[in-house]
Formats: sequence, C-alpha cells, structure tokens
Amino acid sequence: MDNLTVDVCIAGRGPAGIIAARQLALAGLSVIIIDSPNHKIHKFGETLPGSAIRLLTKLGLQLIIERLQTEQHTHGNYSPRVGGNMSFWGSESPIISDALHDPYGFGLRIDRQRFDMLLAQYAHVEGTVQFSTNILDLKKDRNIWNIQLECGKSIAAKWIVDATGRSAKIIHLLGIQRHRGVPLVALYRTFKPAKSISLSKTIISSHKNGWLYAGKISEHKWVLGYHTIPKTAAVLHNSPIHWDEIIKTNTVIPTLFGELEFEKNVFCHDVRSIWLKQSLGDGWIACGDALLAFDPIAGQGLFNAIYTAMKAAETIVQYDQNQDVHQHYLTETHQIIKIYENRRYSLYKQEQRWLNSPFWKAHQMNTDSNRPNN
Ligand SMILES: Cc1cc2nc3c(=O)[nH]c(=O)nc-3n(C[C@H](O)[C@H](O)[C@H](O)COP(=O)(O)OP(=O)(O)OC[C@H]3O[C@@H](n4cnc5c(N)ncnc54)[C@H](O)[C@@H]3O)c2cc1C
Repeated sequence: MDNLTVDVCIAGRGPAGIIAARQLALAGLSVIIIDSPNHKIHKFGETLPGSAIRLLTKLGLQLIIERLQTEQHTHGNYSPRVGGNMSFWGSESPIISDALHDPYGFGLRIDRQRFDMLLAQYAHVEGTVQFSTNILDLKKDRNIWNIQLECGKSIAAKWIVDATGRSAKIIHLLGIQRHRGVPLVALYRTFKPAKSISLSKTIISSHKNGWLYAGKISEHKWVLGYHTIPKTAAVLHNSPIHWDEIIKTNTVIPTLFGELEFEKNVFCHDVRSIWLKQSLGDGWIACGDALLAFDPIAGQGLFNAIYTAMKAAETIVQYDQNQDVHQHYLTETHQIIKIYENRRYSLYKQEQRWLNSPFWKAHQMNTDSNRPNN
C-alpha cells in the first residue's frame, strides 16, 4: 500500500499534532500522522501551566493529569506541582505569585517524553495510521495534496496540518514567510543543590546578560535554564566552566541553593519568538509552535499548542458547511499573537538595571513595526 488517501494529513506528533489528530478523528475524519525520525526530545523541566491542565480537562483528558500525579508515588516518575513563581525581575526583591490565587490553579513540572506518551495514549491516537519518516515534498492538484514521504509512500489528503513545532516544515515547503523575533537561545542543564530546598515554585531571575529559570524536577534534582544572546550561549555551551561566572554574578541562585553540582550535559534550544503572518490557507493550517512559538518567559507554549490544535481541528471540521470559520481562525490567532507580543515586550521593559547590556537592549527594542497590526 504505497498510496494512501485520507481527509487530513498531520505533520508532527507533539502535543499540537496529537490533539489535532484526536479532535479530527472524534469528528469522523480519516487522519494520518507523520513524524520525523530525526527529532529527539531533550525537553525537561517544562511547566504544564494550570491553563493547559484546565483545557485538557475540558477536552476530557483529565486522566493524564491524574496519572502524572499518582505515578510519582508508585513509579517514581516525578511531576511535582508547581505552586506559582518566585521572580526576581527588575529588582532584588522577590515577587511571589501563588497558584492559590490563580484562577487556573497549580501547574505540573513534567518530563516531556512521558507527557507526550500519555497524551498519545489517552487521546487514543495509537490506532491512527502513523509513519516515522520525513516529508520530502507536497503539491496540490485539484484541491488534493499529494505528499511525498521519504519512506517511499505518498499520501493524498484534502487538508494538511503543520504541527511540526518550531521547524514548521510544511510552512517552509510552501514558502510562507514567518516573523522572527530577537535572537534568543536557552541552555538547560540539571544540578543538585548543596542546600536542601523545599520550594514548589518556579524561580525566575534576571541577569545582566539574560535571565535564569530554575525548577525542581525530582527529589534532589533541579533544572537550570539560562536564556541569553547567541554569542554568550555559544561560549557557555562549549565551555560549561563559564557557568560559574553567571551563578556568581547572580544574587538569587547561590543564596537559595548554595553551591550547584552540575551534571555534564548542556542542552541548547533556539527559543526566539517566531510567528506566521498567515495561520492558514487553501487546504493547509498551522497550529502549536509551527504557528506561534513563544519566548519561554511566557510559560504558555503547551497551552497554545493544545488550544490552537483544538481550534485548527474545529476549523477543518466546519469548513465545508461554513467557510467563515477560515476567517475566525485567522482573526483569533492574530489576536493571540498581538496579546503575546505586547505582553512579552512590557515584561522585558520592566528590567531597567542593565540598559547598556546587549541582551536587554535587544529585548527592549521597540518592535512596533514588527508587531501584528490591529
Ligand atoms: C527550553 C524550552 C523551555 C520551554 N518551557 C516551557 C514551559 O515551561 N511551559 C510551556 O508551556 N512551554 C514551554 N516550552 C514550549 C513548549 O515546549 C512548546 O510550546 C510545545 O512543545 C509546542 O508543541 P508542538 O506540538 O507545537 O511542537 P513540538 O512539541 O515541538 O512537536 C513537534 C513535532 O513535530 C515533529 N517534527 C519536526 N519536524 C518534522 C518534520 N519535518 N516532519 C514531521 N514531523 C516533524 C517532531 O518530531 C515533534 O514530534 C518550552 C520550550 C523550550 C524550547
């Protein structure tokens, strides 16, 4: 069977691809998922925000949350509750936000591989036809996409969903423009603190050349993320010894944790904001990071992936009856991008201590001309 015909071909099997596949299959459409075999997940220490937990519950997927919470007692998989933030941003005084006062409640610090696996299991996408291969090319002929796969098969589909994350493979193949924000690189590594610290909050601390993120990921282990300009990131990635300088020049981390015993591996991610100027077109639609990839300071990437995937599926399902849904998706995604970008800009503007640092200068640049128009 080298040629398959389906209603929708979904590229990408992250949270956005899984949710889109589930919602489309529930509506009775035939779906196929293609995921690249080259993509490895090195995501750990991410926070599943309360807003995403509420959305999963609304979708009938609350068992995932229950499973994540119970299995830390039975199997030692650790997904601790995140009870808010302790941020040191703009001054050395902490600003504490408590999940108790958050309408969405607590979040969970998750292991992404485990979370994605549970999501696929409870969304029942295992029964969906899936290929672990690369998409080589796609062409449209009389309203049908012809999608060529590296494994030699080809797929005929009415719709193609780009859920390939930041790589936005389909968008790339279609030659569609994306807006790229200020360069930002995140370096993540794990450490054991010298001081035992019982804190369920995420720690965020600005630094003269970037900002730090720390969160507990197991009984004795924490993750530390440093977000900075590419030049500094390259130095830190190649010689982890320079991390000591970052820690020493930060007033928060050494006070809270004492000496940090770092593990060897340093994982590097491009985390600049990127968004599509147009979120859908004739027979294609983008969701999740392929549509809008947030700066991690937003802390809402997973919510955005689940929400936009749900909306993308609704758009496809309703399209034949009501073509206005096309415009609704465009308008809503445009609105999300606008709110996100205004919020990101005002957050970075709040730090006034290092106005001459290349990092803060770049992030405080007035990006009005780049922002989505009204
Ligand atoms: C350092 C860092 C920290 C973050 N912290 C948080 C956090 O604390 N909270 C939060 O909510 N979000 C956080 N995020 C954001 C979050 O990881 C993303 O928003 C989320 O993973 C987006 O889901 P997605 O399904 O759109 O994309 P992804 O999860 O990236 O999934 C994309 C899928 O597409 C597949 N793929 C890629 N290329 C191809 C191709 N060519 N063909 C076929 N398949 C392909 C991949 O294999 C993958 O399975 C963080 C991100 C980073 C990088």
